[in-house]
Order: sequence, then C-alpha cells, then structure tokens
Amino acid sequence: MSFSHLGLSEKVLAAVAATGYKTPTPIQDQAIPHVLARRDVLGIAQTGTGKTAAFVLPMLTMLETGRARARMPRTLILEPTRELAAQVEESFIKYGVNHNKLNVALIIGGVSFDDQDAKLMRGVDVLIATPGRLLDHNERGRLLLSGVELLVIDEADRMLDMGFIPDIERICKLVPFTRQTLFFTATMPPEIRRITEQFLSNPVRVEVSRPATTVASTTQLLARSGRDGAEKRDTLRRLIRSAEGMKNAIIFCNRKRDVATLHRSLLRHGFSVQALHGDMDQSARTAALEQFRKNEVTLLVASDVAARGLDIPDVSHIYNFDVPIHADDYVHRIGRTGRAGRAGTAITIVAGSNDAKAVAAIEKLIGQPIPFMDKIAGTPAEPQHEPRSEPRNEPRNEPRHEPRHEPRHEPRQTARPPQRGRHEHQRRPQQPERRPPQQQPAPVARIEDARPRRAPQPVRKPMDDGDASHLPAFLLRPVPLKA
Ligand code: AMP
Repeated sequence: MSFSHLGLSEKVLAAVAATGYKTPTPIQDQAIPHVLARRDVLGIAQTGTGKTAAFVLPMLTMLETGRARARMPRTLILEPTRELAAQVEESFIKYGVNHNKLNVALIIGGVSFDDQDAKLMRGVDVLIATPGRLLDHNERGRLLLSGVELLVIDEADRMLDMGFIPDIERICKLVPFTRQTLFFTATMPPEIRRITEQFLSNPVRVEVSRPATTVASTTQLLARSGRDGAEKRDTLRRLIRSAEGMKNAIIFCNRKRDVATLHRSLLRHGFSVQALHGDMDQSARTAALEQFRKNEVTLLVASDVAARGLDIPDVSHIYNFDVPIHADDYVHRIGRTGRAGRAGTAITIVAGSNDAKAVAAIEKLIGQPIPFMDKIAGTPAEPQHEPRSEPRNEPRNEPRHEPRHEPRHEPRQTARPPQRGRHEHQRRPQQPERRPPQQQPAPVARIEDARPRRAPQPVRKPMDDGDASHLPAFLLRPVPLKA
C-alpha cells in the first residue's frame, strides 16, 4: 500500500516521496483519511510508530486553502516539552518543503516573548506550543484562540504526568467548540479517558498496537548490579564498553540530579557524553540534543520528561540506569530504539529488591518476561573464596541460569565487588539457603534451626539400648561396686 490512496495533496505526496518513505505506517494508514474527512481522532500509539506524520501530513493538505489572520492561529498543536514541540516544527519543515507560504510558529518557554509575539502578529497557520507559555501569551492578550480550526493534543499521557491537564482543559475551552480535535496518547489512564470523553466529539479510535507494548525489533535485557551509585555507575561503564554494535546510546535516570552526577562521572571516565534534563536552560538542552543527533557525542544521559517522545531515528542502545518508577515510562524509554524497523538493544540495570518489583510490574505491563544478561564483560574479580580457576571477569553467574523470577530476590549478588561485605548481614536472614559454607548464619538462626529437630526426640535412659554415644565419656566408665 502506498501513500497515494490516503487523499493527501500532490505537494505533500511529493515531499513524502523525497523523504524516501514508501509505505504509510499503520497509524498513518488508519488515521490520515479520517483527519482529511474532518473527523475527531483518538490515536493510541506509542512513539516510533510514525504518529507525527499521521497528523502533520493531512494538516499540510488541509492548510493549502485559506489564510491566517494576525494573532489568530488556524491550527494549534500542544506538546508536553519544548523538545517535542521543536521536533514537530521540524516535521512541518520536512514535509512542508513545497508549502512556501505556510507560517509555522513555536511558542515554548525559555525563549523571548517578543520574537514569538512578532511571529504571531504576522499570522500563523500552525502554532506549536507547550501549554504554559501558550496561556501566558493568551493572558497578555497577544494571542486569540477563537480562530483555531484544528487542535492536536499530542503525548496526552505525558501531559498528565507533568500536571498539564488543568491547562489543557483551559485551552480546550478557549478554542471554538466546532474545531476538529486529534488526540494522541500511548496509554489510556482514567484521567485521559475522562478528557477524551469531555473534549472529543464522536472520535474515530485508531489503535495501532496494544497500549504499552514494546517494539519487537528491540532486544530487552536485565543486568544485575550492586545498589549504591558507584556500583551502578561501574556496571553501566562495563555494559557500555562491552556493548556490541554500539552506535550511540541514551541512558535514563529517574532523577534530574542523578542525570547530572552520572554525566560528570562518565565525562571523568573519558566517555563522549551529553546530559538532558529539565533544570538545564533551553539553549543548553537544544545544544545537547543537537550534538547527540549529529553524532558529535555518543551518549546522552537523560531524564524521562526531557527525553519523552524525542525522535532520534537510529539510537542503537538504551540503558535504564534506574528502573523507571512507572512501568509505562519503560515503554517510552525503550521506544527510543528499534525505531522505524531498526534493531536496538535496551538494558535495564537491576539493583535491589525494589528494582526487582518494578521490573515485575513492567513485565506485567508489556506482557513478556525480560531475561537477565548472561554476563557483563569486565566484571570485577570475585572474593578470595572463589575458585582460582574462575576467570577474573566471570562473576558468580549461576543465578542467571535459574528461573528468571528467582534472582529478583537477590539481584545484588552477581556483580558485587568483593569489598561490599559490610552490607551482607542486612540480607542474610532472608537468604539462609544460599550462603556459602564459610558465611555461617548468625547464632540465633542456628539455635532456632536446631530446636525443632531436638524437641521430638524421645528421652532415652542411659545405656538402655546400648547406644550411649550421646553420653559424656566419664559416665560410661565402669563404676566399682562395693561389696
Ligand atoms: P514518530 O512516531 O512520529 O516519532 O516517528 C518515528 C520515526 O519514523 C520518525 O523518524 C519518522 O521520520 C519515521 N517515519 C514516519 N513515517 C514513516 C514511514 N511511513 N516510513 C518510514 N519511516 C517513517
């Protein structure tokens, strides 16, 4: 099936042909005809499915007729982050090469109001905005939303995570009731369902894959690590150094401050790396992303919010330095690789029982188990009691071959450097059966173990059955009897 049957204009088809895309992706195939027929669309699609073109291509076609008026944009696209907004603008530039008169404006935080204001004044066909800055312009009276014919709400579930839903509701009430609405989300939590019921009018539902499924072309693995930061950073370095086919990688952390710490650490260890998190100013974020896109740096350490939905077409590896707290973030993170049919690898570092629980939730969500890696090259030498013949880089890896749920109770054991014994006592009471012989259980545990075995034994009278091996030797000595 080609693009030609979708109803797109000649100009758009020529631009698509120039990009080299031969066939529409499923979301494009299913959504574009409905968008062109002016229907509301509820698109449930994860990133990497081609959903941006699913709304950009028909919008370009529809905007070929009509003209924009000053301060009254004709269409409005809401994005949760500045990077995503900039990315959608790039799509308009790419697919709109034949639309010379089209005015596209970006209204995002972190850049000058005056420049944005000047653009709005000239009349805008497509306004791409983050919710907060859009409302700022509106409240200053510099922007009227009463001319909006089409509203796109993209990455709605991320908007929810970021607390933007009240802003979205306000914006939906500022645009005309008669507008067309295109609504995209990767998942459908109840709050998102409520918004769709409130603001979409008899929408066509297009679901290209089950919510929260992962891309089949991505190899997913787990890697065990010690729990503290230094151990995890060491594990990560070994994973990166031993990676096969590494072209570039995004490393995800759960917290902004960990992004900064890990970035500094990787720089110190000589890696080519940039950071991307919400506390960086806009120019630093844009510069970091550009360097990564142009392959000027190999690694990008990022937080979820900053990296959500970014289109970097051929990331070869994803590392979850932290297991994401919300399972659906996992889907979004690993959606950065294996895009457009390319192969990718996503490795999640598992450090401790909380991580193991989070991994279990992810596996439940994606409906498939994620196996542990067999080994990580460069694993530090094992403690003294390990066999000398064991190769230095071969950790005690037997738990990796156990049933996959088993190691979750003890994920820290495998890649632990020898000096970490000071934490060992904390988990001993839960792990008595796995202790090597020289790590004897605490005395209390042994007494408790012994009691049930001794209690049922019958009390035997000395020498009544000839077996007196349990008696002290002096009691067994013959006693001289007096006459
Ligand atoms: P998105 O889901 O919008 O972030 O798009 C994911 C990637 O797929 C982007 O790099 C697009 O350029 C690419 N893409 C979009 N449509 C197609 C298509 N029909 N064929 C091949 N790649 C595409």
